[in-house]
Amino acid sequence: MRLGEASMLTLLLVAAAARAQDAAQAAYVSPWRTPWTYRGARGSDHWSELDSQYAPCRGKAQSPIDIRNPVKQDLPALRFEYHGAPIGQVVNNGHTIRVNYGAPGSGDFLEVGATRYQLTQFHFHHPSEERVGGKSFPMVVHLMHVARTGEAAGVAIFVKPGRSNAAVQALWNRMPPSEGQRAADGLALDPAAFLPRHRGYYAYSGSQTAPPCTEGVQWFVLKEPIELSAEQIEAFARLYPDDVRPVQPLNGRVVSESR
Ligand code: ZN
Repeated sequence: MRLGEASMLTLLLVAAAARAQDAAQAAYVSPWRTPWTYRGARGSDHWSELDSQYAPCRGKAQSPIDIRNPVKQDLPALRFEYHGAPIGQVVNNGHTIRVNYGAPGSGDFLEVGATRYQLTQFHFHHPSEERVGGKSFPMVVHLMHVARTGEAAGVAIFVKPGRSNAAVQALWNRMPPSEGQRAADGLALDPAAFLPRHRGYYAYSGSQTAPPCTEGVQWFVLKEPIELSAEQIEAFARLYPDDVRPVQPLNGRVVSESR
């Protein structure tokens, strides 16, 4: 199954679950049948053994990584065309808080060179999955995209403690406290609220950082972090203190850095 189809399946399942919803918080139906966790017997060391669909988790081009000795290059600018739209549901999928985008007619895009990717979902990790020179940040936002050709792109945005972020607060106010999903009550969330001022980045080829660990994801890791307040970081950490896959070996991959 390609990433685009997986995202569409997720959207369909979320829509089906929303129709069945008669309480403030409805059940969330995971598109992946085999349960997994970050630690323990179903933890990241065992993902590829849990389900044949999770075999990519033992691949040679996995994410996240520790970014060391990146090679400076003339890389294309990241052109974000984020406008936002009313979001349907805020999902607590048992691993993170996630918002699905990319319904027909909506239009949040990332253009890199000649490739145009559509935003499909974003979610959060505490602490950051990616490291830079061995150092992690308190959180990271992952904005996931897919092009019409099926090519996938992930944008990682580090979070450091500082001023509170109003968009995140609106989201946190609707965050399901346990696994399930909650209607967003017409909340129009512009994902541009997650973008830092400067768009310099690291780039490398990797994978989804959770099962099924599909490879062929082009990652863009922005160098400049954004700020969330300490309280906002803590509010997420109370639900998910450690939703992080350990860094994966580069296996000869080169990390580029924009000038
Ligand atoms: Zn992620």
